Amino acid sequence: MKTKSDLNLVLTYACDFSCKHCICNSGPFRKEVMSYEKAVNYLDTAASVLDLASIGYTGGEPFTVYPLLKELMYYANRKYGLPAGVVTNCGWCKSPQTATQKIEELIACGLRSIVVSLDSFHLEFVRLESIKNVVDAALKYNLQITVNTVVTRNVQISKNDAKNLLSISDDLIESGQVTFKEFGPLRTGRAKRVLDPEEYIDTTDETHFNGNCPFIINTPAIAPDGSVYSCCCFGDATKEPEQLIGYCGNSNTTPLHDILVAMDNNLLFNILKTNGPYAILKALQKNNPNLTTRGRYLTNCDVCIELYHNKEVKKALQAFLKSLSSEDRKEAKICSK
Ligand code: SF4
Ligand code: SF4
Repeated sequence: MKTKSDLNLVLTYACDFSCKHCICNSGPFRKEVMSYEKAVNYLDTAASVLDLASIGYTGGEPFTVYPLLKELMYYANRKYGLPAGVVTNCGWCKSPQTATQKIEELIACGLRSIVVSLDSFHLEFVRLESIKNVVDAALKYNLQITVNTVVTRNVQISKNDAKNLLSISDDLIESGQVTFKEFGPLRTGRAKRVLDPEEYIDTTDETHFNGNCPFIINTPAIAPDGSVYSCCCFGDATKEPEQLIGYCGNSNTTPLHDILVAMDNNLLFNILKTNGPYAILKALQKNNPNLTTRGRYLTNCDVCIELYHNKEVKKALQAFLKSLSSEDRKEAKICSK
């Protein structure tokens, strides 16, 4: 049986904020926007190849292209019955009325879940009341809500603080309607350039990053330039997208259908799915005892940064994939012995 997929459309890299920890280097200076025609083509093709469960609309800030966001949600919901999720910084929300109006409009187009951020990085640009107004409107209409909090050693707001600042009851968390997540920034994009390496709360405790990846292949993302990735954590695609995590190809030069089929069969992606990035890194270290690695990570995604952005590790990874036996390749395992 095919696994359900959640397709993500990166509608734009434009954003009214320029958060220090932004992995995709978004900001007001970014102009890339996905066209409606291309997005519809992506939706139609993805619906014919994947067993889609939902469409996520992300960015940048998708509310900076609100008419596009609304029309695409409507299209995917009416044609394929697909529910939508949106990731937003809430900067568009000027009052409780704006929040209610926009949430009502999007619910009519298929919106069923929303992801907001509440942390010290975003609060440099957005008022707490704006986030609270959006969350309150989403609660009123029973949307699934996720509140993300990015933490570093220097910032003050934790996910428990976020819960208190938004006055969310334990009942709402226990019922599953509201989820709070706390994680560190990824070492890519603006975060890598701007944040002090000492700020990252990395650790040698493997329990934080030793697991398989449930997202790769199952949550593919398409960027405004037509690049396709097998997960959403690829980072700053301003240049050399083919060097980024999970790059699968560009739909302007290769049919999206073929890219998605190849993604599903990609050896590395399948090993990440079954074994996880840390299992791969350990296998590389076993084969190459002198490999220089950071040795401290925050999450699975942070280990992927090591696999893709540490040149020495990437070279060892490519050699390792070539050396796998046909049995291991078939089962997407690291080693059959
Ligand atoms: S983290 Fe989000 S809100 Fe901040 S600049 Fe990046 S896209 Fe915009
Ligand atoms: S662990 Fe790697 S493959 Fe999985 S979501 Fe994170 S970056 Fe993507």
